[in-house]
Amino acid sequence: MENGHGDALREEEEEDEEEWKFGPSEDLLFASRISIRGVLGQVMENVVDSHRPPVPLGHGDPSVFPCFRTASDAVDAVVSAVRSADFNCYSPTVGLLSARRAVAKYLSRDLPYELTTDDVYITNGPGYPFYEARAAFSRLEARHFDLLPNEGWEIDLDAVEALADANTVAMVLINPGNPCGNVFRKQHLTKVAETARKLGILVIADEVYDHLAFGETPFVPMGVFGSIVPVVTVGSISKRWVVPGWRLGWIVTSDPNGILKKTKENFKIEEGIWRGTVRNEIVEGIKGILNITTDPTTFTQGAVSDIIKNTKEDFFRKTIDLLRETADVELKLSLLNGIENDVDFCCKLAREESVIILPGSAVGLKNWLRITFAVGPSSLEDGLGRLKSFCERHSKAE
Ligand SMILES: *Cc1c(COP(=O)(O)O)cnc(C)c1O
Repeated sequence: MENGHGDALREEEEEDEEEWKFGPSEDLLFASRISIRGVLGQVMENVVDSHRPPVPLGHGDPSVFPCFRTASDAVDAVVSAVRSADFNCYSPTVGLLSARRAVAKYLSRDLPYELTTDDVYITNGPGYPFYEARAAFSRLEARHFDLLPNEGWEIDLDAVEALADANTVAMVLINPGNPCGNVFRKQHLTKVAETARKLGILVIADEVYDHLAFGETPFVPMGVFGSIVPVVTVGSISKRWVVPGWRLGWIVTSDPNGILKKTKENFKIEEGIWRGTVRNEIVEGIKGILNITTDPTTFTQGAVSDIIKNTKEDFFRKTIDLLRETADVELKLSLLNGIENDVDFCCKLAREESVIILPGSAVGLKNWLRITFAVGPSSLEDGLGRLKSFCERHSKAE
């Protein structure tokens, strides 16, 4: 740091440094080193062209484009929640009852059984892709299985079995997928459930993109298989309503057999003295973590039942028509001159063409590109045109 006080002070500072007992957690720094925002920032720094506006095809947040404005019914719901003055208070740890009831009803539409209010915990949203950082923070080891690109990005379940050991407790899947945009078939999800059952682990399903599916495969929630294996589903209104800034999500347990409510240990004995009953259920753990995290704003919680109830099908249909969310493209580096990897490709593309694309590395897909199509048709055409000239200029062929 430049402070203009010369070497003496700097030496003093260095001495001081040794006395401090604190520092950042190495685990956390390592786990959080890659973020979409961080990598996009790095790519964007390369833009130099002041004549052409940059075309942003790297972001995951279409809410900035007018054509993706959220439903007016959703806005009205929030406005009247604020106006009512009923929601100026703190909310209960697990969320407002009305919000829990609304989400339970909303998700039950696609399940073979009814969720209860108690299955729903209202949260600030899952965040993405934080799984590894969060696991490292709790000193949990994360292992990666592959999705198979030639099999519609299905989970390599043999790999899951090979990776799991006696300490494995859960597997995470994202459906509909980000970054691959795949939607898992029902048969595949059945196999996922059976594999998890066999391994004795629970399934954590990130279904933030629920119902944002437009291919032939219909979206089936993992909770459908809750009677085979307990499922913890995370979701939010961020993507379907295009309001990631509203920060309202949920954790839902799909567990008709009540496995997550089973008490593992009944008694706690400390130094030979019985200290009473310990509720050692997974659901108590979920409440525990919510107890020590901040709640989503109470008025958004107050609005959520009207947001869900009043938003018309038209709005969802329009979004789906506009949205061909993202495309993943594998880089054939052997066909390109002077490009080292996906990050290099994106930085040079930003410099030469002012087009921003997300390097796959940011979402675990090295040497792939994630192109967001959610920008409105004319920007997309412009961006893809520039991408094409860039590739032609760097092509080895002829
Ligand atoms: C955007 C996203 C999230 C985060 O959702 P929020 O509701 O904004 O927290 C989680 N998972 C995936 C796969 C996402 O794309």
